[in-house]
Amino acid sequence: VSRFEGITMAPPDPILGVSEAFKADTNEMKLNLGVGAYRTEELQPYVLNVVKKAENLMLERGENKEYLPIEGLAAFNIVTAELLFGAANSVIQQQRVATVQGLSGTGSLRLAAALIERYFPGAKVIMSSPTWGNHKNILNDAGVPWSEYRYYDPKTVGLDFDGMISDIKAAPEGSFVLLHGCAHNPTGIDPTPEQWEKIADVIQEKNHIPFFDVAYQGFASGSLDADASSVRSFVARGMELLVAQSYSKNLGLYAERIGAINVVCSSADAAERVKSQLKRLARPMYSNPPIHGARIVANVVGNPALFSEWKAEMELMAGRIKNVRQKLYDSLSAKDKSGKDWSFILKQIGMFSFTGLNKAQSDNMTNKWHVYMTKDGRVSLAGLSSAKCEYLADAIIDSYH
Ligand code: PLP
Repeated sequence: VSRFEGITMAPPDPILGVSEAFKADTNEMKLNLGVGAYRTEELQPYVLNVVKKAENLMLERGENKEYLPIEGLAAFNIVTAELLFGAANSVIQQQRVATVQGLSGTGSLRLAAALIERYFPGAKVIMSSPTWGNHKNILNDAGVPWSEYRYYDPKTVGLDFDGMISDIKAAPEGSFVLLHGCAHNPTGIDPTPEQWEKIADVIQEKNHIPFFDVAYQGFASGSLDADASSVRSFVARGMELLVAQSYSKNLGLYAERIGAINVVCSSADAAERVKSQLKRLARPMYSNPPIHGARIVANVVGNPALFSEWKAEMELMAGRIKNVRQKLYDSLSAKDKSGKDWSFILKQIGMFSFTGLNKAQSDNMTNKWHVYMTKDGRVSLAGLSSAKCEYLADAIIDSYH
């Protein structure tokens, strides 16, 4: 008998498990709209040209594979903070940001959670309902208590702004408020600039600390600056805050695990101390981060020619997604005779669309139509080609009614 007899089977991951089921399906029309990974119009994975160019430069230079410092590659840490806040931002100029390279968005969020657990004992993180499923896992494993604030309104398939504001107000003073910087996952519903200002107002009133997750900078709208505007508007108020960054989507570096945690402090002195503690938390968890992705980012952002080429490729990816979003809406509106208003799809932003389909309807999408998606009704438009928009519209209409 096994010494591991007491270990029960863990449930499959609700997002990554979808890809496994997809692989096993042999139907020709099958569509994988589960995981948020960009596909070309031919539904193939895409390696950006700027990434290949940066990798060629790196090979030519014959760089070594020595360990990085605990905080990561210095050139990466500089450009990643500049990209996020803007190089001219006073928080950069005054060295008030503690930046540590992380294991992509997830690892950076995990470091932030460890910092909260250690230095803000008992403080709660409040997150949107719904949110990216891994947020809860990350906080649970770090031992950080959390609860949810209202966000999604099923009646309008839009934002429950009043619910959000009153729940943030009701949270204990000094809570961390987890916010999606842009392209909210899973709903695709973002606050307007005016709503962001009101959110910042209540956070300041309540002495809360904003905790941004920025996984889609440049990938949502096609513009790096527009997608960072929520974070920058909070920074402009002089607030202290945390921001986790990821290069999985905007540079297509999913498997390289490259991102960062940034803590904006009110003084350079505090930033230095925070950074030293982030390093102390990272050391026993994974010692130091991988170098390859950090070098790619540093080369792309630090080289003006590659940087502008990246922006063009990002616009292309964001544009393709906007295109299938429009086409899906057009097909739904043309085919659906029930009079349902599908315009909520066009109001959403980023790689995901929340369809409003419930669990049973999502099951019908998969079982009858071979459309693989998460059971909350979220579809990744990055996994949709324009050739398959009509098919998806048929599947959605059949599942709704
Ligand atoms: N945060 C959000 C909201 C996401 O959607 C994702 C990826 O899907 C991540 C963080 C982290 O991804 P990664 O760890 O690959 O950077």
